[in-house]
Amino acid sequence: RNPPPTLLHPEKWCRGFNHFISQCLIKDFEKRPSVTHLLEHPFIKQVHGKDMSLQKQLAELIQEQQQLGSVAKTRHERIHTRRPYHVDRADKYSLDDDLDTIIQQLQKRYADLQIYTYVGDILIALNPFQNLSIYSPQFSKLYHGVKRSSNPPHIFASADAAYQSMVTFSKDQCIIISGESGAGKTESAHLIVQHLTFLGKANNRALREKILQVNPLVEAFGNACTAINDNSSRFGKYLEMMFTPTGAVMGAKISEYLLEKSRVVKQAVGEKNFHIFYYIYAGLYHQKKLSEYRLPDKKPPRYIDNETGRVMHDIVTKDSYGRQFEAIQHCFRIIGFTDEEVYSVYRILTGILNTGNIEFAAISSQHQTDKSEVPNPEALDNAAALLSIGSEELQEALTSHCVVTRGETIIRTNTVDKAADVRDAINAESGMNVGILDIFGFENFTRNSFEQLCINIANEQIQFYFNQHIFALEQMEYQSEGIDATTVEYEDNRPLLDMFLQKPMGLLSLLDEESRFPQATDLTLVDKFEDNLRCKYFWRPKGVELSFGIQHYAGKVLYDASAFLEKNRDTLPADVVVVLRTSENKLLQQLFSSPLTKTGNLAQARARVTAASRSLPPQLSAGRIKVDTMEVMRHPEETTNMKRQTMASYFRYSLMDLLSKMVVGQPHFIRCIKPNDDREALMFSHERVLLQLRYTGILETVKIRQKGYSHRILFEEFVKRYYYLAFKAHETPLGSRENCLAILEKSKLDNWILGKTKVFLKYYHIEQLNLFLREV
Ligand code: ATP
Ligand code: MG
Repeated sequence: RNPPPTLLHPEKWCRGFNHFISQCLIKDFEKRPSVTHLLEHPFIKQVHGKDMSLQKQLAELIQEQQQLGSVAKTRHERIHTRRPYHVDRADKYSLDDDLDTIIQQLQKRYADLQIYTYVGDILIALNPFQNLSIYSPQFSKLYHGVKRSSNPPHIFASADAAYQSMVTFSKDQCIIISGESGAGKTESAHLIVQHLTFLGKANNRALREKILQVNPLVEAFGNACTAINDNSSRFGKYLEMMFTPTGAVMGAKISEYLLEKSRVVKQAVGEKNFHIFYYIYAGLYHQKKLSEYRLPDKKPPRYIDNETGRVMHDIVTKDSYGRQFEAIQHCFRIIGFTDEEVYSVYRILTGILNTGNIEFAAISSQHQTDKSEVPNPEALDNAAALLSIGSEELQEALTSHCVVTRGETIIRTNTVDKAADVRDAINAESGMNVGILDIFGFENFTRNSFEQLCINIANEQIQFYFNQHIFALEQMEYQSEGIDATTVEYEDNRPLLDMFLQKPMGLLSLLDEESRFPQATDLTLVDKFEDNLRCKYFWRPKGVELSFGIQHYAGKVLYDASAFLEKNRDTLPADVVVVLRTSENKLLQQLFSSPLTKTGNLAQARARVTAASRSLPPQLSAGRIKVDTMEVMRHPEETTNMKRQTMASYFRYSLMDLLSKMVVGQPHFIRCIKPNDDREALMFSHERVLLQLRYTGILETVKIRQKGYSHRILFEEFVKRYYYLAFKAHETPLGSRENCLAILEKSKLDNWILGKTKVFLKYYHIEQLNLFLREV
């Protein structure tokens, strides 16, 4: 009725109108106004009557509208193809063929070398088995403090998320990397450290170098070549990067767990000892210093020569071990070891190699049949010289029994590593840290022994922790907020974990109990398991006496119980400890003044040599451990007073110590997946990936992430963040339920839920809200 002034200038008006229609079309292509409808509008008719060219213009508009429709369609498609980045994001995403669909997407992405994919806030990382150029400083910059959706998925984004979360909420973070052996956990851990060092602006070059050199050094001592992985971690590693309240990196602290010590003396066929032994032997060989360390130059010592001739050939023809030795020397220097300390380490390592060459022979006389002697005393002398102990004492300790009855003494440590002092001092100062857990992956070999059992129980525990966070805690939160949210069924491995850890009838307790009986054998042990572990997760195959099977979360594993008791007793005769403590090598002295008293009754002297070459467990500090949240194990104090330390109790204890560190941080999960067993680049085995996705509960994770609400924000926080969308800038609305509702309604999102104190949102809601905020 009151035509706008522009109507007086039809040309201008037409342009304005045109513009208006385009805007409508662009803004809301699905509900676009029908142009024919507009033509019928009296207002248009009036104009139309006066301006014949409008007809033409509208015809053009119709055409434009159609084009816009197709543009919109492609945009829509683009969103679809981006979905694999965020598998949970597509709420219409069909889960009928759930896992298959996910695998197909992973496969497609893998073919394009897109190895990372998000499932909600979890990162899936496929091992590329080739070097990718996506970890350069340019990439570090790209993933610096930006929204996750701004860039393709990347491990740097996960590190960034943990870092941002730490800085924003002043809360410790914990990045848990899991996956099978060879899936890429250790590599991922390196990349995270690399990016955190970048984010923490480690301007101090020396500090940055130190932090970056820690991993290679520790891995030289704790990693080895196995049938599955040439650089397999044989220990669990928890690296805490410490930051100032403003987020500047100030140091790092490393804790190791459950080193597979038995590897020092014996390796399965096709496997090797810890890398460091090859490095040092090769390094000394090339530096022509073997004789200084009393090592032969024709044939490597027994402990590293289980594939006769092969190692020597590699050392002489290829120099890679030698180069690694140089790298390790460099690491020692950078980290700040003194020359003397490094020399002590070398002497201990070569001492161990020499110890392995000591032989034993039985002396049989009429009266004594169980006594042994050393037929190659030069080996004994060599070992003793390098360990800076008396060779006679060593021989004595090795070849005679030592029986200590009740009243074992627990030797308390009073020598605290200087570095530990410094480290702890740093710790006390720092408010926050990001911990990175890289633990040995689940293993299933043709022959699985005590070590595999421990490794697999540890993985079982990590999986439990994952389930707790992803499923149990989430569902508890829905309940407490009075939300009738979806319950997602997931495979709870708690009963299995109980079967291992419960007292007094769990597998580890039974093992300890049996280890106390001198008459017990590995067979009586398996009988005991069979009698007491009456549950579906345990079975005993017929016909193989020492064998028993466990249905782990990741699959069935058949264990061979040979030497379980011996390995669990882990006896190091007191005599050997005494002798080693007399060493003039300060480092060795210090190692053996750890809180430990081992007693035992080892029949065979060789086994004692074996034991002597094992390192002792790290100092166990109780008091500060608090793990009741996990409800899995009892308070650790009961184990601090233990009289005798078996491997099982040490293992249980370490696991607890590890958990106690993890539970304080906000977790971030990275799931490493091995696309094939041949370590081949670009090869994607559907079955192998399916299996891993299945047992890690990825599908359930997708479901809970899809049905559930990954963002739960307190009303107050929500209003503070988004009030702009429904209120005027100068207003200060209360953080009430009603105000949240007003904001949510105004922003026209669906599928959110209001709880009692929190707004429950999906991942894509947050992105949408932030987008609106920017537009406003
Ligand atoms: P374990 O449980 O045996 O310690 P893991 O999960 O730690 O296994 P890694 O040692 O990290 O496995 O990875 C095995 C190998 O896979 C690496 O040596 C490397 O060759 C390759 N790899 C893993 N991740 C990457 C990556 N992001 N880029 C390139 N190569 C990788
Ligand atoms: Mg590893």
